[in-house]
Amino acid sequence: MESGTAQSSTKATNSGPGGDAADQLEVLNPATGAKIASVAIDSPQSVAATVARVRANQPEWEALGIEGRYRWLGRLRDWLLDNSDRVLDTMQAETGKVRADASNEPVYLADLINFYGTKAAKFIGEESVRPHTPLLAAKKLRVQYRPHPVVGIISPWNFPLILSLGDAVPAMQAGAAVVIKPSEFTPLGLAEVVEAWREEIGGPDVLACVQGVGETGGALVDEVDFVQFTGSDRTGRRVMARAADTLTPVSLELGGKDPMIVLSDADLDRAVNAAAWGGMMNSGQVCMSVERIYVEEPVYDEFVAKLTAEVGKLRQGADDARDCKEIGAMTSPKQSAIVEDHVGDALASGAKALTGGRRAEGPGDYFEPTVLVGVDHSMKVMRDETFGPVVGVMKVRDSEQALRLANDSRYGLSGSVFGEKERAERVARRVECGAVNVNDVLVNYFATDVPMGGWKESGIGYRHGEPGIKKYCRTESVVITRFGGKREPTWYPYTKSRRGLIVRIARAFNARDWRRRLGLRG
Ligand code: NAD
Repeated sequence: MESGTAQSSTKATNSGPGGDAADQLEVLNPATGAKIASVAIDSPQSVAATVARVRANQPEWEALGIEGRYRWLGRLRDWLLDNSDRVLDTMQAETGKVRADASNEPVYLADLINFYGTKAAKFIGEESVRPHTPLLAAKKLRVQYRPHPVVGIISPWNFPLILSLGDAVPAMQAGAAVVIKPSEFTPLGLAEVVEAWREEIGGPDVLACVQGVGETGGALVDEVDFVQFTGSDRTGRRVMARAADTLTPVSLELGGKDPMIVLSDADLDRAVNAAAWGGMMNSGQVCMSVERIYVEEPVYDEFVAKLTAEVGKLRQGADDARDCKEIGAMTSPKQSAIVEDHVGDALASGAKALTGGRRAEGPGDYFEPTVLVGVDHSMKVMRDETFGPVVGVMKVRDSEQALRLANDSRYGLSGSVFGEKERAERVARRVECGAVNVNDVLVNYFATDVPMGGWKESGIGYRHGEPGIKKYCRTESVVITRFGGKREPTWYPYTKSRRGLIVRIARAFNARDWRRRLGLRG
């Protein structure tokens, strides 16, 4: 891999993978078009070898226990915080995002490491269970959580560290070894951290990455014991189908088309600021971006005017550690073509762009922050995932109509409702999605205490909270005999008297009334 060129980028567009040769990824800076690195693609054989290597080291990692593993992950946390400028430079170069959007990544990871490090004992520590029947009085019941030995993580390009290491952290804290395949568009930042884990932190060889496009991802699915996939629902289906061949469990975090509902009693300025940030943050390339907004009639005109003014003010372009802008580049050319198609389709069908509405002038692959009105659910921009700096705003009669429209989607990732606290909460509880925010947007992702997962076609499984670490474990129930003679009453040889005794005891404890308990009925 050629590297160390990440900071040298300046202007143009990202074409993502392609390359000098079939076995190389060519990494371009979306904000400049400059080539910043070539990365060797891992063949299926090399994926298998990497998985075998970390698999061999996993038992020792698991044997460190929760505290021992947290100590190592704590060193990773410290490294991320100490080296965040270096990591941010690389990530900005490969994604074209602005500094503020990139800065979330190391701090989220530091918080997540501490969260799972301190909660793991509660979430996956051994459980002692009291038997439900006196027939098991002689047994001790325990449940232990043992990791899937090797977890494969396949990740997208929009948050190269959060959506790869962010899954590796709970998996490793649970005792698994991890192999990550980052997106072909953003292979560099993660590779830098994985190299640091080995070379600078000196961590056990249980964290690795493999590089490539879909073929490498497919090979990883074949080799691992659990697959954590984040990406489009189209690829998610393929991953699940491939995992079915080896009966490998999967967790899928897929796309979204998140609605925001603005009630007439909302603090309108807060709702406007939230819509602008929730819709445009990371150039709208967030699975939980606000993509559709439904506003109650009495406040619609004022909301639209304020939102247009707010979005119109956003500064677009490349920035760095010394400068500050709000809207960065489109990371994947495939995605910017989709954004252009959705906006074009809406405009051709009668919608109006109050600000933005087209690609920005180069150099760099930028799409102008866009507010669309006159939209409806026949348009792609209100139905399919746009994943760009675009929001469509619709006027609704009341909250019932808003809810009907918000829930009229094949996706169900998250959503938000703005309004008077109690009314907004009542409405929010009826939005059909995995997480809903009241008078805020996107914030549920940072509330790692609670699970986050998609309903409908937005996914299967959860990250965060207790389920976010338990999913990396297999349960092993351990049933221990506290006392017993040479044989149990249920063992051979069968006799009529013992058989009758067992049935009478079971009956006495399970029947609802005394007649049945004594065997006088039934
Ligand atoms: P994508 O589905 O194109 O690719 C995701 C990953 O899958 C990449 O690493 C890619 O190389 C790999 N891949 C492609 N084909 C594969 C195959 N056949 N087998 C195995 N792996 C394969 O998605 P993307 O364009 O990188 O990311 C954008 C999508 O991710 C959007 O739909 C977005 O909503 C979604 N996303 C979801 C969440 C979430 O938490 N729900 C978070 C971020 C992004």
